[in-house]
Amino acid sequence: MLLISCPWCGERAESEFRCGGEAHIHRPDPSVADAEWADYLFMRKNPKGLQLERWCHVQGCRRWFNVARDTVTHRILRVYRMGEPAPPELATKAP
Ligand SMILES: [Zn+2]
Repeated sequence: MLLISCPWCGERAESEFRCGGEAHIHRPDPSVADAEWADYLFMRKNPKGLQLERWCHVQGCRRWFNVARDTVTHRILRVYRMGEPAPPELATKAP
């Protein structure tokens, strides 16, 4: 079982959390072309390796935060709060 360290509650079992998918998705202006809007709505990266994700502590404080996780090993490299930029050393490695 994966152990995730909530920024507010500390380390807890994976079963207390829900993954919200890729982090740092920016909503485009609604006037963009349909193809760009569809890309925003439906297309997500699915890398083998480092991925920046959003997680929610649904069985705890119910807050969202970001996790840098290796999708192959499930190793969590970093946890950081929503609104914080991706750690530069990881952002350059993420797809
Ligand atoms: Zn929490």
